[in-house]
Order: sequence, then structure tokens, then C-alpha cells
Amino acid sequence: MLCLEGEGMTERDYYEILGVDKNASETDIKRAYRKLAKKYHPDANPGDKEAEQKFKEINEAYEVLSDPQKREKYDQFGHAAFSNGAAGAGGFDGFGGFSGFGGFGMDDIFDMFDIFGSRSRRSSSQPTKGENIRMSMELSFHEAAFGTSKELQINVWDTCDTCGGSRVKKGSHPETCKKCGGTGQVRYTQTTFLGTVSRVQTCDNCHGEGIIIKDPCPACNGKGKVRKTKTIQVDIPAGIDHGQSIRIQGKGEPGERGGPNGDLLITVYIREHPIFERRGNDVYCEIPITFVQAALGGELVVPTLDGNVQYTIKEGTQTGTVFRLRGKGIPHLGNPKIRGDQYVEVKVEVPTKLNEAQKKILQEFANISGEEIYQQRKGFFKKVKDAFGDAFGN
Ligand SMILES: [Zn+2]
Ligand SMILES: [Zn+2]
Repeated sequence: MLCLEGEGMTERDYYEILGVDKNASETDIKRAYRKLAKKYHPDANPGDKEAEQKFKEINEAYEVLSDPQKREKYDQFGHAAFSNGAAGAGGFDGFGGFSGFGGFGMDDIFDMFDIFGSRSRRSSSQPTKGENIRMSMELSFHEAAFGTSKELQINVWDTCDTCGGSRVKKGSHPETCKKCGGTGQVRYTQTTFLGTVSRVQTCDNCHGEGIIIKDPCPACNGKGKVRKTKTIQVDIPAGIDHGQSIRIQGKGEPGERGGPNGDLLITVYIREHPIFERRGNDVYCEIPITFVQAALGGELVVPTLDGNVQYTIKEGTQTGTVFRLRGKGIPHLGNPKIRGDQYVEVKVEVPTKLNEAQKKILQEFANISGEEIYQQRKGFFKKVKDAFGDAFGN
């Protein structure tokens, strides 16, 4: 039987106790409950019997209204629904602590302690990881493709050389805190309706450090650490892409109270290349050829990340033709032996400044291929006619 205390304790309407409407949502009920529970919590009202009574009422009401099944029964039968205790409304188990304490999850408890400040103070004496440092780095197209090693200057906290991290002035010594005897923690015992509650809190005299420094080191103002610029070597892996980050573990700010160092996070930006464009692991480029090369075909010199290569184009290559150079793209990140491809788009350039001799030859070319050109144009105009014919439904 759990509900000795709660049973029949109050005949006040549960909705009224929580100050909510009969149609209140679960969220409304929870919100109202938390607000009131914080207000009337015994820790906030030591020795206040009225607050203690209210706190019990609030919990009893919440116990029922937060549970859809119990709430339904309550709506139907009122307090009678729970008068025999069979419905299990009793969240209070008297003085055993928080077990079965209706409505209170661990999160609620912690939220409440936050109000009284004990949670944040408690955590301040625990080891914490240092802050991460974020930086950016600009790389050339080539550096990103094949990886590189770079020196980077970072500004981090480091042990003060003057005091060696002891935080005290030379010749002086830190004193043991008298309030906590050097443990950094103080035990408080409180009697509440839940029984005797004993809680350990961070010592407010030394802020949990266990020592008091009367003569701080002047070089670091008693911090024991100073800002220093350090040079570190960063290895950039082949295949890294624009906007990606590298994490270097332990190269961030130092941890507190023995906690690990933070990390160094470097975001990479790749400078644009005058010829190449990167899409994933593939490289794209355009290459201009003359109309003579396009018509006759032949050897082309194509720039790649590995230097120039020869490529043979066919006779009659059209502008916009794309050919692929396998394995001439970017190495895969984490597996640099595998590489993307390079796609080369051919752009046929029409000459703009022809001399008389060149014009004459081209005219001759036109004359001797007159019939062919006539046939091509005839084919084109037929297509136009077909297209318009379709469009007008003729
Ligand atoms: Zn110092
Ligand atoms: Zn202390």
C-alpha cells in the first residue's frame, strides 16, 4: 500500500489545484505542474508547512492528471475513483526518498536543482573537455586533389611559464581552504517531509578547488595559464573537397581539471582553378580547337592534373563533344589509389581575322563542296517546314 499519505488527503479538485482547465492538454498540465512544484518545493521553502502541504497536493493532482487512464477515471468518478487506493494514485511512499514519487522523473529533479544552483556548481568541479577550435584553410586545386602538409598558427591556452601552472606568486603558497578542508565539497543535511536529505555541494569559499590563493602569479593573474601562439603541422588528405572539415584530436583548448583537450577543426576552401572545375571526384574542362582540327581530326594536347597528355580526335568532331580521360580525376578521400575521371569538352572556334589568302581558299572550299552544302541546307529547311507545319496543324 503506497498511498497512506496521499489517500483522501484532499478533496479539492485536481484541475483547480494545478490551475488548469478541464480540457487542458498534457503539455499544459505538465507546464502548470512544473511551475507550481518549483514554487512550493520544500527546498525552496524550508520549514514552511503550508508550502509543504501545497506541494503534496500538487503532486497528488499531477499523479492523476498526467496519466490518461487515471485522468479518465477521475473525470468520471472524481476522488471516489481513488478512495480505495486500488487505482494506485499514491505516488508518495512516505519517507523513502524519490522512488515512486509520482510525476517526478530524473529530468524534473535536475531541472529543479538547477533553480537552486546545485547542479551547475556540482558540475564545475568535474573534469571537462577543452573547447574545440575552429579554423579555415585555403588550398589550391592541386593541394586538395593530392593532399599536402601545412603549417598552421593557433592561439591556445597553455601553462604559464612564470608559475608553472601553480597560479601563485613566486615564494608564496596556496592555502588549504578552511571551510571544506581541501576537499572542495561541503555536505549539507536538511530535514524535509521526505526525511533527512543529505546533499553534497561545491564549497563556495574555494569554488570547489580546495585551495585559496592569496598571492596570485602576476604573469597569468592567477589563472595558471596564458595564451600562446603555437605552430602545428597539419596533414591534408588527398581528395578533400571544398567545405569539408578535418578534425585533429586534442589540438584544441586544454581541458579543465584533468579533462581531455578539445579538438582542432579545420574547414577547407579550395581556390578556383583557371581551367579545371571539380565535381565530386571528376574534373571538367573545355578545350578550344580550330575548325580545321575539328574537320580533319588529329592529335590534341590536353592538360590534366598529371601534366599534358596527347589525345586523338576523330575527323568531323563537333563542338560540344565530350571525351573522357579515365583515372585523370581527383583521388578518392581515404582511398587515393582510386581516382575520378576527367571530362574534356571540345569547343570549335571559328576564326575571326582571316587574311585574303585564307579567305580565297575557303571560298574555293565552298565552291567545290557547293552541292553538298546545298543538300545540307535543303535538309534543314525541310525540318523547319515540318516543324511549323505540325505547329499549325496543316
Ligand atoms: Zn602564472
Ligand atoms: Zn573550500
